[in-house]
Amino acid sequence: MKMKQKKKIKLGEREVQYVLQKRSGTKSVRLAIYNDGYFVVNAPKWYPLYVINKFIIEQADWVLEKLAGSDTNSVQRVLAQKEADYRKKKEWARIVIRKRVEFFNRKYNFEFKRIAIKNQRTCWGSCSQKGNLNFNYRVAELPDRLRDYIIIHEICHLKELNHGRKFWELVAEAMPDYERCRKDLKNNYYQY
Ligand SMILES: [Zn+2]
Repeated sequence: MKMKQKKKIKLGEREVQYVLQKRSGTKSVRLAIYNDGYFVVNAPKWYPLYVINKFIIEQADWVLEKLAGSDTNSVQRVLAQKEADYRKKKEWARIVIRKRVEFFNRKYNFEFKRIAIKNQRTCWGSCSQKGNLNFNYRVAELPDRLRDYIIIHEICHLKELNHGRKFWELVAEAMPDYERCRKDLKNNYYQY
């Protein structure tokens, strides 16, 4: 017996539609995306939706790439392409930023909990009171000096959660000419 249902799922920032086919004979979840963008998910009849969705989310990169390359209507395709691009940029940013944080923190030796890469619309980076460092993925696309300045800036907030004199002295330890980067960022790049 087959049961077909239309479903939606959020993969990153984009919503994807699929047709869920629940079958009694199936033992595992299988995904199929046809050339026209028709996306079918086959799943055992007794599987709850959240398990199925978890499986799809784990395969998100594959789904988005496949949809981006399919013959589906152009809006769908462009959105899938954008999301797939964003995911790649974010992964690359995670590698670059982590490497630079570790590099500069060899000097400072401050403790931090985790590094998160986000798509914030409001800032280049931030540091929480709990010691989490957050960076906008676009930081990795900046010229090296500016990228490093933002990274040093947030590392120093692990010690000084303000913009007082002590904070800027810490920044200057790793980057004596930080003022130039600050101005450059202010004058030539998007203002968050
Ligand atoms: Zn700051």
